[in-house]
Amino acid sequence: MRSPMDDRLAPGVLDGGITYANNLANDANAQLRLLIDNVRDYALLTLDLDGRVASWNAGAERIKGYKAEEILGQHFSRFYPAEDVALGKPQLELEIVTREGRFEEEGWRLRKDGSRFWANVVITALRDDQGVLRGFGKVTRDFTERKLTQERLLQSEERFRLLVESIQDYAIYMLDPEGRVSTWNAGAERIKNYRAEEVLGQHFSRFYPPEEVARGKPQRALRVAAEEGRFEEEAWRIRKDGTRFWASVVITALYDPQGTLRGFAKVTRDFTQRKQTQERRELEMLRDAVLARDEFLSVASHELKTPLTPLQLKLTSLLRTVEAHPESSLPVARLARDLDVARRQVRKLADLIEDLLDVSRISMGQLRLDRTPTDLATLAREVVVRYTPQALQVGSTVEVEAPDPIPGNWDQTRLEQVLTNLLTNALKYGAGKPIRVHVRSEAGLALLTVQDEGIGIAPEQQPRVFDRFVRAVSERNYGGLGLGLFITQQIVEAHGGIVQVRSTLGQGSSFTVLLPQGLDAKPD
Ligand code: ADP
Repeated sequence: MRSPMDDRLAPGVLDGGITYANNLANDANAQLRLLIDNVRDYALLTLDLDGRVASWNAGAERIKGYKAEEILGQHFSRFYPAEDVALGKPQLELEIVTREGRFEEEGWRLRKDGSRFWANVVITALRDDQGVLRGFGKVTRDFTERKLTQERLLQSEERFRLLVESIQDYAIYMLDPEGRVSTWNAGAERIKNYRAEEVLGQHFSRFYPPEEVARGKPQRALRVAAEEGRFEEEAWRIRKDGTRFWASVVITALYDPQGTLRGFAKVTRDFTQRKQTQERRELEMLRDAVLARDEFLSVASHELKTPLTPLQLKLTSLLRTVEAHPESSLPVARLARDLDVARRQVRKLADLIEDLLDVSRISMGQLRLDRTPTDLATLAREVVVRYTPQALQVGSTVEVEAPDPIPGNWDQTRLEQVLTNLLTNALKYGAGKPIRVHVRSEAGLALLTVQDEGIGIAPEQQPRVFDRFVRAVSERNYGGLGLGLFITQQIVEAHGGIVQVRSTLGQGSSFTVLLPQGLDAKPD
């Protein structure tokens, strides 16, 4: 303290005491003076009885910007904004201190450069042993930062409150610890139809259906939220007019830092529409599944019955022939022809049933491969030879291009099935037109292409033809269960390969199977 009052003012007074000691020669007092001089966070100054600055420390210089020599002897009202001076505030404060011993406030003050800072000010009356007022002690702190932070916090709280209040899609409100509504936003009004003034203070159980209230559900929800921090459910709730809505509800317990339950935050959404849409979709899926099943049953029974009629006819005719002829004169050639027809129809039935069994094996994940070293070229030629009579019958030629052996580790029977499916489809949908089967290998992959010049497949149907029960043709013109390509794809994929279709409606189709030859792998 560099002050003309040095000899009369004890630093102790600035601690809030009002003692006045004249003689301060001891060490403690000297130390205290050093402290006051050096404190930078507090402006510590004294005023004489008229309010003129009598002493000035480093903190005062730092906070207010004046050096001691500039300010000593000046009236302290220069620290106040003009409007406060006009109101006579500085004088008023000194009067209060004189009367009451002490005055404290927070307010704007001026620095030397005219800028404002938010000051926390304590003024203390300095009296001597006889109680005579000798001057004033002033402690000022710069709380500008603190004030700004507080204001920012208030602003952001205010913005947040406005945001919550205006949200329409969510009912967001608070309950006190007993479950009474304590805040209400626009969304709550929209969803539940109560206005704030109707519902504030009411118990939140009124939003529950009566049977749930009877079962104590509202209380249970709060208990769970209080114990676990949070409660969540989807359930029916009641609007003001008594109608129900399907609500998604989250209740969060609000604890203060001391761990006392202060209430609950509730967020509710109206999911009635969503629930209805979901239920409708589930119903539609169920209906589609039932339709698909019924359609399949009708196609399957039709397909299974078709071979039975010629079979029965042939068997009856065979029986008649045998009965009508004495043993020695049986027309052997005709009997053999009829027996062949009968056998082919039985085989057709067996194949259909085998396909159905394959589908159920596949859906139960039981399609097992029995891999052995197999030559795809030989296999293709064999299958084509087997179907030559059928090709002749429909008026198609089948050309095989398989110059080199294409060895691989494959399930031979299953690959035969793939070849058969693709070839019989080509014969069925490309009847009367040439068919080409091409087997080759490229970069460790075996490639098999079966190409026809038949009816083709519409582009929008192409991605679907490998699905189960899918048929892209009318069942009146072409028989079939819609399983061949599904089974084909499953077999190819079980071998780690893929099958692709290329087709132009009215011009023909080409199915290509790509199979890893798997020559390094051990047969499994
Ligand atoms: P299916 O032949 O028993 O109906 P698939 O699974 O073998 O069953 O074939 C599914 C559908 O794909 C067939 O109904 C048909 O519409 C179409 N399809 C298959 N192969 C051919 C082809 N080579 N040419 C034209 N359409 C075909």
